[in-house]
Amino acid sequence: MKIDLHNHSYYSDGVLSPAEVVDLAKNQGCDVFALTDHDTTDGLVEAQQQADEINLQLIHGVEVSAMWNNMTIHIVGLNVDIENKTLQAGLKQHQEFRQIRAEKIARGLGGVGIFNALEKVKLVAKTPMITRTHFAQMLVQEGVCKDMRSVFKRFLTGKKPGGVGGKWAEFDEVISWIHAAGGKAVLAHPLRYRMTNTKIKRLLSHLSGAGLDGVEVVTGSSSSDEITLVSQWAKEFDLSASIGSDYHGWPNQRVQIGHLQDMPNVNKTIWSDWSWLN
Ligand SMILES: [Zn+2]
Ligand SMILES: [Zn+2]
Repeated sequence: MKIDLHNHSYYSDGVLSPAEVVDLAKNQGCDVFALTDHDTTDGLVEAQQQADEINLQLIHGVEVSAMWNNMTIHIVGLNVDIENKTLQAGLKQHQEFRQIRAEKIARGLGGVGIFNALEKVKLVAKTPMITRTHFAQMLVQEGVCKDMRSVFKRFLTGKKPGGVGGKWAEFDEVISWIHAAGGKAVLAHPLRYRMTNTKIKRLLSHLSGAGLDGVEVVTGSSSSDEITLVSQWAKEFDLSASIGSDYHGWPNQRVQIGHLQDMPNVNKTIWSDWSWLN
C-alpha cells in the first residue's frame, strides 16, 4: 500500500490546487494520501470532492506550527475533524499571526528599499494565507535573489530586515487542538530543525510526555541512515511511525508525491489505529 501523509497545496505554500494535488497523488499510485497545509484546513473541501471523484482515500490533515523551547517546530495533525471548534479557533490564531507577520516582513523589506512587498506578495499567493515562502518566491521573481534559499538567508531570518520571530502556540496546546479534533499528532521532519541529536531526543521526550502520537520516520528527503535513526527514536519514545513526502510542487524541489523509501520495521504505524483502512 502506497501512503503519503504530508503534502501541501496553494492553500498554504504549495504550488498546485487541492484538486491538482489529489490528481497527482492518484497518478503517482498513492492508495492513501493526506493534504496537510500549514495552519489551515480550507483546501480539504476541494480535495475531498476530487478524491471522491477519482476514488482516492483522502486523510484530512493540517501542519501546525508550534513553539518548543522558543524554537518553531511543525506538528502534523492527521485524520482530524475539520469542523472541530477547538482546532479551528487555534488555527485562526495562527492565521492572524501570519497576517501580522506578513505586514511586519513587508515593512522590514521596505526599510531596505524593497517597496510594495505586501501588494506584490499577494499576487504570488493564491489564497489569503501569506507565508514566508511566498515572500521568497516574490523576491526571486523580482530578481532580488537568485533562489529561495538565499532569500531566507539574506532577508527572512533572525535580525535580517524581514526577520520576524515566530510566536505560535506552545507544543502542548497544539497537540491538544489536534486531539480535540480526534486526530493523531505527529512531529514533522524531525531532522530539519537544525538541532543536535541530543536536542531532538529531548524534544521527542517532551512532546511524547504531552501526548504526541507519532513521528515522521520516512520523509521525501530522508536518507537510509536517517530513516534507521528516527525509527530507533520512535521505538525509544514509544511513538507511532508516519510517512510523508512534504511535497510542495516548487520547480526546484526534488521531492515527489508518493516517492518515498520503504517504512522500516517499526513497532507501530500511525495508520494502524485507523480500522477502516486496515
Ligand atoms: Zn514542515
Ligand atoms: Zn510540510
